[in-house]
Amino acid sequence: MAGGEVQLVDLVKRFGEFTAVAGINLEMPPGEFFSLLGPSGCGKTTTLRMIAGFERPTEGQILLDEVDMAQTPPHKRNVNTVFQNYALFPHLTVEENVAFGLKYQKATKEESAKRVGDALELVQMSQFAKRRPNQLSGGQQQRVALARALILNPKVLLLDEPLGALDAKLRKRLQLELKALQEEVGITFIYVTHDQEEALTMSDRIAVMSQGRVEQVGPPKEIYEAPSTAYVADFLGVSNLMDAKAGGVTVGGCRVSIGDFTLVAGQGDADTAGDAKVTIRPERVVIEEQGATGQNRLPAMVERTIYVGSTLQVILHLATGQTIQAWVPNTGSDERYHSGDAVTVEFPSDSLRVLPEGGTAVLEEAELDVATDASLSRRRVVNALTRWAAPSSQKPVEGLSQHPAQRVHTRQHVAAVVPSTS
Ligand code: ATP
Repeated sequence: MAGGEVQLVDLVKRFGEFTAVAGINLEMPPGEFFSLLGPSGCGKTTTLRMIAGFERPTEGQILLDEVDMAQTPPHKRNVNTVFQNYALFPHLTVEENVAFGLKYQKATKEESAKRVGDALELVQMSQFAKRRPNQLSGGQQQRVALARALILNPKVLLLDEPLGALDAKLRKRLQLELKALQEEVGITFIYVTHDQEEALTMSDRIAVMSQGRVEQVGPPKEIYEAPSTAYVADFLGVSNLMDAKAGGVTVGGCRVSIGDFTLVAGQGDADTAGDAKVTIRPERVVIEEQGATGQNRLPAMVERTIYVGSTLQVILHLATGQTIQAWVPNTGSDERYHSGDAVTVEFPSDSLRVLPEGGTAVLEEAELDVATDASLSRRRVVNALTRWAAPSSQKPVEGLSQHPAQRVHTRQHVAAVVPSTS
């Protein structure tokens, strides 16, 4: 089997007035394990259903190996789907369920038996061939669903939260198995999940989605270590997001103030200025003795310590008033932090990331860019940009990218969105 290349070009899906997918551009090369990650309702399943052919795009293109799929019905696309609820036939045995996929292919009885045998072996279900679905566990049923999808040799396998119904332990085991299976068969996997750990464990690359848009695309490490927006940082687990004022370039990064304390954020855009967020992963926070001095250190008080097996989660109240988490490896020694302990917290500058909040610096740059366009009223432009850049805005301006990196390149977008008569 070999994987196919999938390209989504300016893909949009509207249901009546509601925009579920708001212009997605993605390229998934052959054999990639690609995940669409995001909270409920962000448009993951709708995107997957369009690739499968179950939904027709309102705008844009879906290319499979460079061929536009617009006119190809679902059963003719070289793409198969595995659903969360398995969708097995209860009255058929395991092997009959798997063979069902071959019904519309010209295979002899012998060929068919061999392919069913191979597919069941691939998912380690050979010994259950004669059972019916109600005689199998959830994990076993999902393996059968996988075998039924793989037997057709699709170029792309679409998986919609396939492990969602399983308990945590089985889920973790199957994540590893699924990844190993994907590497063995070489098919392109497009995997939908709202579980960040699952996406990080299995994927070659992840697209983090929000409100029908892609916020960031990249390999797991990049998405986790170098989130480009506060949204991504927050969605990818505990991120200790703190309000800050960014003061532009300084030695070692960007100068940021949290309350009365000035620190250096070595990650993120050193040019950032104005209202911003800073973020640090809890495993990077260093807890030191009270009074320890040096750069990027703040006084703090231990609120409480939570024991979670491999780590201790220490909840800290900073002198700036913010509450953060530090994760300390459990080395087996006696508990080291007690509620009320005064400590010093270090945010190593190479772990502290500054993220623009869509504040004045971004607006000024964008304003300058659009102000030269005489056909636009400056007031309308600024209003539109302000609404768009506001992190709390519930009504993003249609047509404008949500990605901060693209926010400064907005002239065309604004021209398209803001009416030219003032
Ligand atoms: P979940 O993880 O909950 O499945 P999701 O990210 O997969 O969420 P989608 O199922 O793609 O989200 O739905 C995106 C948005 O589109 C949701 O607000 C949903 O209510 C809406 N939506 C989906 N299908 C339809 C439809 N047929 N008609 C109207 N709205 C729809």
